[in-house]
Amino acid sequence: MTVESAAQAAYLVAALLFILALAGLSKHETAKTGNTYGMAGMAVALVATVALAIDRDVSNTGLMLIGVAMVVGAAIGLWRARVVEMTGMPELIAMLHSFVGLAAVLVGWNGYLAVEGGADKAEVAILTAQGTLGIHHAEVFIGVFIGAVTFTGSIVAWGKLSARFSSKPLMLPGKNALNIGALVAFAALTVWFCITPQLWLLVVVTVVALLLGWHLVASIGGGDMPVVVSMLNSYSGWAAAASGFLLENDLLIVTGALVGSSGAYLSYIMCRAMNRSFISVIAGGFGIEAGPAEDKDYGEHREVNAEQAAELLKEAKSVIITPGYGMAVAQAQYGVADLTRKLRANGATVRFGIHPVAGRLPGHMNVLLAEAKVPYDIVLEMDEINDDFPDTDVVLVIGANDTVNPAAEDDPTSPIAGMPVLKVWNASNVIIFKRSMASGYAGVQNPLFFRENSAMLFGDAKDRVEDIIRAL
Ligand code: NDP
Repeated sequence: MTVESAAQAAYLVAALLFILALAGLSKHETAKTGNTYGMAGMAVALVATVALAIDRDVSNTGLMLIGVAMVVGAAIGLWRARVVEMTGMPELIAMLHSFVGLAAVLVGWNGYLAVEGGADKAEVAILTAQGTLGIHHAEVFIGVFIGAVTFTGSIVAWGKLSARFSSKPLMLPGKNALNIGALVAFAALTVWFCITPQLWLLVVVTVVALLLGWHLVASIGGGDMPVVVSMLNSYSGWAAAASGFLLENDLLIVTGALVGSSGAYLSYIMCRAMNRSFISVIAGGFGIEAGPAEDKDYGEHREVNAEQAAELLKEAKSVIITPGYGMAVAQAQYGVADLTRKLRANGATVRFGIHPVAGRLPGHMNVLLAEAKVPYDIVLEMDEINDDFPDTDVVLVIGANDTVNPAAEDDPTSPIAGMPVLKVWNASNVIIFKRSMASGYAGVQNPLFFRENSAMLFGDAKDRVEDIIRAL
């Protein structure tokens, strides 16, 4: 067997391992195994690719560069993955997507310089003989476009998720026209480039795509960011697939298509869960004209301390806990699990209500609660628990804000209008754990805090939960 055919067989094995990885990642219980399949697939792919490079007589300098890139990349990857906090995971993922986008741009430019630029005469001769030179032009152009949109889009997503950029949507005048204009320009330039591949056309499309990626994600409000992250995940897949075509690497095409289509499907599911139009979100908030709601005066809020909260909980027969991003920041899940055990021992029914976009990544709350050994059967999805709030004595809102905001239902001008939320206000008493009256990730005020049956318990969620446990 030649190295070439062995490598192709290895690629097939790696592709299967990636499919198994995706299947495993679809459930909590199998997620770890799924990750292991993914790592194994990547290891097989790397070995096969290096073997191919050696077989294809890549120069010693080339091999050395591959080695250095692998060591540096692996070291940075290991270091980041070890130190990243659970709360920093989404921004790390956004950053990794930006690398895929940048790689696709570089591969595209390299393809241009080698073929259209005439640096690799042998490759030009092969493509001309095959009659596929025109396809190469299209691959270069489209690959650079998708890659550049993914690159800047992911950088903005990283900035918004790590609070380096404002999470408010950028509202440029005529933003829809700008997006559509950029797409029309891309289509026209692609045709032009395929007829006469010139360097300046590639420069123009790169700049247009970089600006479009930036604008698309900057235009999206904080509440819709979960969909954007999975959408960029999808774009990064298509960018990798485009590079696969250019590099004639089947595994890259298969993997890119897997990531691209699964990311697109996840975006679609999340849009449905959040009652958002898929087209609107992938087109950068297309058609969403409502700006951030202005500051209204909702009146006075009420405060309680940990002892008063403990008194209320002692009497409660039914309790629902709705955790959010603040629980992750405070790392309050262990205290929350302890409190749950105490309340259940006291005879109360305690359940958790999990919003599909609570926290900063899909399944964020489920992971934290599982980590703290909260039994699965008392952790319910929003739709399973939303009708039970009227029969609930006390709701503990632990560091959640947007996901329990009644403005989503009551205020059609709110940026989160229409998003399904946990209807905690229907319970007899609501205690909200947070440090201040600050707004949530979507940047909108929460009228829940001013309702008659609501009370604020200020402070770090972990400290306050521990205070309640002590008071109990
Ligand atoms: P929010 O981000 O709306 O609010 C979290 C609240 O936690 C804040 O109001 C903050 O208030 C409070 N908080 C922060 N730190 C602490 C602490 N140490 N102790 C106590 N409270 C704290 O959270 P939700 O989970 O309700 O909503 C998630 C938001 O994130 C949604 O808008 C969603 O669309 C978005 N998002 C979700 C993603 C996902 O995939 N799940 C990805 C990207 C965005 P204060 O500062 O006053 O303490």
